Formats: sequence, C-alpha cells, structure tokens
Amino acid sequence: MTTSMTDTTTLQACRDLDAQDPLRGLREQFNLPEGVIYLDGNSLGVLPRTAAARVAEAVTQEWGQGLIRSWNSAGWFDLPQRLGDKIAQLIGARPGEVVATDSTSINLYKVLSAALNIAAQDAPERKVLVSERSNFPTDLYIAEGLCKARGLRLVLVEPEDIASALTPEVAVLMLTHVNYRTGAMHDMQAVTAAAHAAGILAVWDLAHSAGAVPVDLNSAQADFSVGCGYKYLNGGPGAPAFVWANPKHADRFWQPLSGWWGHAAPFAFTPDYQPAPGITRYLCGTQPILSLSALDCGLDTVLAAQPLGGMAALRAKSLALTDLFIQLVEERCAGHDLGLATPRAHDKRGSQVCLTRSEGAYAIVQALIARGVIGDFRAGDGAAGKHLDILRFGFTPLYIGFEDVWHAVEHLRQVLATGEWRQPQFNQKNAVT
Ligand SMILES: *Cc1c(COP(=O)(O)O)cnc(C)c1O
Repeated sequence: MTTSMTDTTTLQACRDLDAQDPLRGLREQFNLPEGVIYLDGNSLGVLPRTAAARVAEAVTQEWGQGLIRSWNSAGWFDLPQRLGDKIAQLIGARPGEVVATDSTSINLYKVLSAALNIAAQDAPERKVLVSERSNFPTDLYIAEGLCKARGLRLVLVEPEDIASALTPEVAVLMLTHVNYRTGAMHDMQAVTAAAHAAGILAVWDLAHSAGAVPVDLNSAQADFSVGCGYKYLNGGPGAPAFVWANPKHADRFWQPLSGWWGHAAPFAFTPDYQPAPGITRYLCGTQPILSLSALDCGLDTVLAAQPLGGMAALRAKSLALTDLFIQLVEERCAGHDLGLATPRAHDKRGSQVCLTRSEGAYAIVQALIARGVIGDFRAGDGAAGKHLDILRFGFTPLYIGFEDVWHAVEHLRQVLATGEWRQPQFNQKNAVT
C-alpha cells in the first residue's frame, strides 16, 4: 500500500486503494450511519452489528428468563476474565493477566496505588511521581489525589524532558502511550527500560493504543497498565475499561479497592479479606453485565483482524490512512493557517491526526459535523505562549477507508474556503466537545 504524492491525490486513486485493501471487509462488522464519515473512533468507537442483538439477549434471555441462575449458566461471573483474555491478545499480555472492569480512571487509581506501595517498600526514600504535563487530565487528577494522600510530589514534565526527570527521588513514572491531544506516541520499550535503569516503576495508560497500535506489555516489561473499552475497542459508551499487572507484581499488594469480587473466595462470605491470586484481585464489586456483553462484541470486531494479520495489519493501514490525510490536507487546504500537531515519523504517531489553528477550530469542527464528517475539538494548552486549538481526527482502520479520507479533506477544504464555519450556529459551545 503506497501513499506517494502521485498516486493518491485523486479520488479514483483512493478508491483503488480501498479496492486493494485486504482489511476492507472488516467494515461490514459495523452499523455506520448513512452519510457519516466517522473520524472519532478514538473517543467513542462505532456500534458493532452484533451488539444490539447480544445486549437484547442478555436482557431478555439471560436476565429475563435465567434470572440469578445466569451468573453461572450464562457465564456472567467470569466475563471480566474472559474479556480480559481477548484484550490480552491485543496488548502483548498472556491469558489470565488482564481483567475488563471499572473505568480507566478507577483502574489507574488501583495500579498507581499498587505501584506506589511497591516503591514504598523497595525504595522508601523515593517520594516523587512523574508524568507528562499534557497527559489526559483524569490521569493527572488521580495521580494528584494519590500524591496528596501519601505526602508525595507530582512532577509534570514535557515529553522531551522525561529522560532527565528520571532521578533517584522518583518512585513511579506514569505515562499515556499515545497522547490524546497530539497523537504522539512514546517508545514504550525504551522509556520503560530507561525508567527501570533508574530504579523507577513504569505505569502505562493504553487508552489511545489498545486496538489502535501494536503494544507488547510483556516484551516491554512494563509494570502496570490500564486502558479504555469504548475507544478503539468499540465497547460502547462508558464500556468497562481494563487493567493489567505484570505477573511479578500482581500478587504483591492488595489493590486499594479491596471489594468482594477481588476476594479469593467471594462466596465463602468470610468477614476478612483474602485477595484472589493474580489479576482477579483487581476486580472490586459486582460487574456491569450488560455493558460487558456489549464490550464483548466490540472486542470481537478487533479480533476479527487476527486472521488477516492482526494488529500489524491494522497498524499498516492506519499509518497509510493518516499519511494520506496529512498529505491531502497539506495539498488541498494550504493557506488556511492549519498546522500539524501530530508527529510525521511513523514510530512516533498513534492512529490520529491533530491539526492546529489559532482561530475558529471549534467552529470548523462543528461545520464539519454538520456535513457528516465527525471529528472533535480539543482546547489548546497555550504552550510556548501560543494558543493553538486542535482539530482532532481519529482513524480506525477497521471501518475507515481511503475514499473516506479523501471526502473528509474535501469537506474541510470547502468549510475553510467558503468561511462556512463563521456561521453563528457553529460557534455556540456544547457541554461535550
Ligand atoms: C479516554 C481516556 C481516559 C478516560 O477515562 P474514564 O475513566 O473512562 O473517563 C483516561 N485516560 C486517558 C489517557 C484517556 O485517553
């Protein structure tokens, strides 16, 4: 698959790329609304065709008819582990190392607590947690709360300063693998190795990585990881997230939310807590079965790529899509004050492209949405004294094609060239951007 200047600048060339795409058929797994080009699968993945019937079955049969028997007969009880085993295949984990449960924020609280407990025992003089200033805010808020409760210091650095921040006072490095705002991707293997060489534990958030880019937690020897179920895993709004602990750490500490689902024998109903071995102790209370049922369908859409080359094949297509988008924006939308926040280097890019603009980014995104091209807006952070807002476009190779990219850029070109975005209805902010 090539995306060189000469052969992809026409709509026909994009159609040819789709015709040659071995992953093209995977799109049939989804209910994509008519007339929509969906470039926001990094925020909320698309509805899998199987999900409505699966959730209906869980409601009418398993709940309606099976009632409480379904905890056993419908396999409700071990859904977090069974779904965890599916996720494990996408992130370089082994069966039994992952559970699907709770939210990313909650899981981060659990693993950060465990990592800080390990550090407190092995290296009590280390009192600092390091993260990136541009990390997703909930990650920073959870870290801030934990540092406050434990008398630790949270140090936030720019990505280029991470290496020099790995000092002897640091206990834990917590990073998000692919940055939500810029799409920049860390080298997990190298950063983890640098942290370990400095005696620091590495905790990775895979919210924008799982199902989007190849990840190998075990080969990177990461310490803990969490990730999101409703983004590239297509699990539906508020889908359960996941959590992974390196097997060498999993049994060392209780996670702080020591509820009965993480107990070694929950139905023994003993008054004292005995943590289950392994990752099961990272469960807390009764699980949301309907949501897990929908997530199961989402995971199957990603696993359907396994016989076609799996994450490596999805990654190759994702890079071809984002390369094409960048190239077409630069060719066709030149002169409209757009910048590129996403790295051009393949090994530093996730599965999204973020464009910057000093004025009107929110309204441009709204005008695109009115045309059926759904991306999203993220406020700029005012770094380097410049305020540049972000137009964010996520590319899920399971259902986005090359012709979609061509049309999306053509809509963007028209919105900019006509000044359509200046219309008042595109300039009123909604609660969720
Ligand atoms: C999307 C995302 C989250 C979401 O957390 P929730 O608990 O599901 O609200 C957390 N961290 C990162 C890095 C994200 O991209």
